[in-house]
Amino acid sequence: MDKYIKFLSKRTNKLKASEIRELLKLTEGKNIISFAGGLPDPTVFDKDKLIEIARDVLENFSDKALQYSPTRGVSVFIETLKNFLLDKGINISNNDDIIVTTGSQEAIYLASTVLIDRRDAIIVEEPTYLAALNVFKYLESRLMPVPIDDDGMNTEVLEDYLRKLREDGRRVKLAYVNPTCQNPSGTTMSIARRKHLIELASQHDFLILEDDPYGYFIFEGERPIPLKSLDRDERVLYMSTFSKILAPGLRIGWAVGPAEIIRYMELAKQNVDLHSSTFSQYIVMEAIMRGVVDATIERARSLYKVKRDAMLEALEQNMHTTATWTKPIGGLFIMVTLKKKIDTKKLLLKAIEKGVAYVPGGSFYVSRRGSNTMRLNYSYPTLTQIREGINRLALTIKEST
Ligand SMILES: *Cc1c(COP(=O)(O)O)cnc(C)c1O
Repeated sequence: MDKYIKFLSKRTNKLKASEIRELLKLTEGKNIISFAGGLPDPTVFDKDKLIEIARDVLENFSDKALQYSPTRGVSVFIETLKNFLLDKGINISNNDDIIVTTGSQEAIYLASTVLIDRRDAIIVEEPTYLAALNVFKYLESRLMPVPIDDDGMNTEVLEDYLRKLREDGRRVKLAYVNPTCQNPSGTTMSIARRKHLIELASQHDFLILEDDPYGYFIFEGERPIPLKSLDRDERVLYMSTFSKILAPGLRIGWAVGPAEIIRYMELAKQNVDLHSSTFSQYIVMEAIMRGVVDATIERARSLYKVKRDAMLEALEQNMHTTATWTKPIGGLFIMVTLKKKIDTKKLLLKAIEKGVAYVPGGSFYVSRRGSNTMRLNYSYPTLTQIREGINRLALTIKEST
């Protein structure tokens, strides 16, 4: 196993498969109800329409769709994407401000490699999105966790933090936030805090990476204003994706931000994949134009709302004495906090024995907090699995207290 270690770069040597991921791998294919994933419900995908679109794209545009294409993205797709976003309240006036990426993951990676040097201070919500955390760690940044509550990142704590850092003569370069229906917590940042964060970014001269995969299918009420739309000072780099509103397998996302930064992301992207799949871009373009994306959004919204409600109800019935939990207005996740200081990492083995799995919350924390929390996914399991799984989980917890 260790034969090639001496060949690895120092950076790669530090990459470690998470022990929890290894553990969860063992649950696949068994009779275990998993709340551990983060997958869309496949019944949300419009398979028939996508078959039709794929065939039409190959018939009508194959010379282009099968060819190499510009690093920034296929220009007819960008025009369609801009119109789609305008309809959703995001106005992109300049084509230099946008780049198509291979999912938002690539946007996170490109922005990070362009902006982050070793030891740079990066503000993150705590808990935060694991796949972003891993990129920031890979680049050896210094992570500065700011706690979140029901209103998202606590910007008062952030303000104190920034003041102290400034007194020490240190500066923050970047804040990464997932303000709407956050992964993993399911919380949404209030408008007041969004405005406060933007103000702090101007006062303390840092940039904001806004990751917004869930803002397009809020279950009830108005969509919270993206930080990007509050940004008067060109400090926000906004990214989103078709993964949750069309199909993640197409791997199409995008970033919108200051032209200068997008330009460097384009240069970095040339090193990574030259361009995102031309074929996928044509498929997404047609899906937008034929109303398939909007229909998928509606299906996701109504199905996930029912599933969220089922999970909240099951939690209320089975776990109100042992735990508290968040009440997301969208997205795919609920975060549960156990009232007793039970280590959910240790509890996971017992849960798996009872036939249910989740992700221990500690994985999403930079500090050692969160050891009594867990992330539950409600988009993928069926309603029956949600009810039965929460039963099993409640039983596991009861037997451990
Ligand atoms: C699901 C998700 C994404 C999507 O990533 P893709 O690479 O576009 O599939 C991005 N950010 C967060 C926080 C997510 O939960």
